[in-house]
This record gives sequence, C-alpha cells and structure tokens, in this order.
Amino acid sequence: MQEIPFVLAKTPAASSLVDKFQEVEFSGIYSNYGPKNTQFEAALQSRLFGSQGCCLTVCNATIGLMTAMKQAARKRPRTSPSPRYALMPAFTFAAAAHAALWAGFTPLFCDIDAGSWGACPQSERRLIAKYGSDIDLIVPYATFGNNIDLDHYERLHRETGAGIVVDAAASLGAIDERGRGFGTGFRHPVVYSMHATKTFGVGEGGVIYCADPDTIATLRIMGNFGFGEPRCATMPGLNSKMTEMTAVVALECLKTINDVSDKREMLADAYRRSLISEFKLQSRTGRRTAYQFMPLLLPKWVSRDAVRASLSAQGIGTGAYFSPHLMQQPYFRAQCEADDLTVTDDVGARILSLPLWTDMTTSIVERVVTALHQCVLSNPADQRAA
Ligand SMILES: *Cc1c(COP(=O)(O)O)cnc(C)c1O
Repeated sequence: MQEIPFVLAKTPAASSLVDKFQEVEFSGIYSNYGPKNTQFEAALQSRLFGSQGCCLTVCNATIGLMTAMKQAARKRPRTSPSPRYALMPAFTFAAAAHAALWAGFTPLFCDIDAGSWGACPQSERRLIAKYGSDIDLIVPYATFGNNIDLDHYERLHRETGAGIVVDAAASLGAIDERGRGFGTGFRHPVVYSMHATKTFGVGEGGVIYCADPDTIATLRIMGNFGFGEPRCATMPGLNSKMTEMTAVVALECLKTINDVSDKREMLADAYRRSLISEFKLQSRTGRRTAYQFMPLLLPKWVSRDAVRASLSAQGIGTGAYFSPHLMQQPYFRAQCEADDLTVTDDVGARILSLPLWTDMTTSIVERVVTALHQCVLSNPADQRAA
C-alpha cells in the first residue's frame, strides 16, 4: 500500500451503527423508500437545503442522472428525425455521457473555461447557435465540487426551452455564495453522488434534489419501475432505490458533513498556500468547495507521467481526473459531437489530482508539495524555457 494514498475513503464505523442496522433488520423493511430513507431525505432537505425543495435518494448518481435525463426527454416529445442532443462539457466523468446515451440523447460536448474548468459559456452559445432546438437538454457539471452559476442555466432554459439536469456528483458539502448548500432552490434536477470517494461517502448512493416537488414525485415513481399506480407502470421506469442499510450510513454521514467539508477545505487551503505559482489552480466560486481531491495544472514543460511515476516511487498516489476527457474515449468519440475543445485538450493534458482525504494532516500536504516541487524544479532549465 502507498504511504500516502490518492484517495482514502472514510465511511462511519459500522460498529457504532449496530443498533441502527438492527432496527432495519427488526422492521423487516430493507428498501422501497422505507423509514430510514424517509428520515434521511427529510434530514438532508433541512440540513443542506434550508428546508427548501425535495430530495430523493438513488442507488448511485449515474442511475440518478439517467432517470432525470429520461424525465427531461419525456417533457419534450420529439417529432424531428435529427438526434436529440445533450449539451455537456467534455471535461467530466464518463457517467454523464453514458447516462445521456441511455436516456436517448446524443452527447454534444462544449469546451471549458480556462479558470473554473466548468462549461465555457461562449462554447455553449456557439453550439446553441449551431444546433438550435435539436439541443433538448443541457447538463452542466459542478466541476470538482465547485459552485457553478445556476442562474445562467435557468436563463438558458428560458431562452432555449432545453431541459436542465445538473451533474453535481461531487458537490454534497459545497456552499454557494449565499451560504446555502449548492443547488438550493434550483427548479431542475441536481444529482449528487454519495460514492465512497466523494466528500459525502456512503459506499454506493446518490441524491436528486429539486426545488419543484412534482419533479421529485415523478422521479420517485420512475425509480420504482414507473409504478404510478400499484404494480402498474404508467411511465418509463427502472429501479433506482437505495437500501435502508445505506440510509442508516447516510444519516450518520450527514452529522459530520459540515466538519468533514471544512476539514477538506482547510487541507485545500494548505495546498494553495504552499504550491508555487508554476502550478495553476482552479478558480473557486461560492463559499465552500467540496473537495474530492486537489486538482492542479502542471506547467507545460513538465511530463505528467514522469511526475506521477516519481511521486509514486516516493509512496504518493495521484490521479489525473479527467484525462482522457470524454471526446478522447473511443466509445464516446464514435457517436458524440463536439465544439472546438482547445481548452479541454490543454487542461486534460496537464491536470494532476493530488491526495486530499479527511484524515490527512497539513504535514502530509507539506510532504506531497515538497515532493512535487522537487520533481518539477529538477527539470532542466532549457526544458522549462521551451
Ligand atoms: C462520481 C461521479 C459520477 C458518478 O457517481 P456514482 O454515484 O458513482 O454513479 C458522475 N459524474 C461525476 C462528475 C462524478 O464525479
């Protein structure tokens, strides 16, 4: 095992939850939006979303994105023979493009902003001008738990009529500029992951939030086989339900999410203070970012493979999220379309993700930074000038 792993998942100790697990066992209710799940959804709505809107648990964020996208498609019945496009940034995780394809959309990738690494508004505009009403859906990604501008997407929805589904997979724990949990009050589905590697990690799980209760009510039915009437499908469906045992873990995570997110932001601040200016960091928005890891851009004159190998040899794990980006993955390249992706190509080629986990200390951050500085500054000067 690496001395300093890239990710180190931390879920609540099962031993401390034995009583709660037994409550599930004795109730005989293991799923189907049972009492623990209901309790978790209500607690989440009040603790993270200021008691506004509604929450629906799902078994993971990918399935949550699929159902939310499918619902968006149903709202706009199609007559034109051209594909229905889902506009999304190329710099995101494969799950968003897979979900769009499963829901019947053709992913259409826009470029990203060089500072925030979120969807670039000019690139979105270019694609909207070119594809017009064939764009049925817009899927922004709250990049690495950052607080993107949701008002911008409400405006795009009003202008184009396209549905909006937000991929906020890493965002449970993020706080927007008004001091609310990221997503609060948004009238379109916002999908969060509770995968073990996220800030709010239960193992497998997810949440769909929406300020509109009808949207959540419909998604709840779709997630239970489309049963709008007892045992009778009235709409498209699948099984997206989360287990009661997971809800027990999630309730426990909710108690600590604020402290965990603060701690992780403190570690990110330690990185920001220590890293030399040769590294480019993501511009932050909102009051708190939910950090899954610490992303940065390497200087152009440095080989990422060499840096990763050198850090690995020193027992330090790293990642390169998201490289390859979506348009560089063969399955997507073969069937998706894209705008010019100059910034995505550049960011994807230089991105490096450093360890950032809840039990890390600032002295571990210092060790990582020192090792990184050594390997970057040991590059010959002629290479740096090139
Ligand atoms: C983690 C992640 C997902 C998938 O979440 P799961 O709960 O693992 O399905 C989707 N999109 C992004 C951007 C992610 O980081």
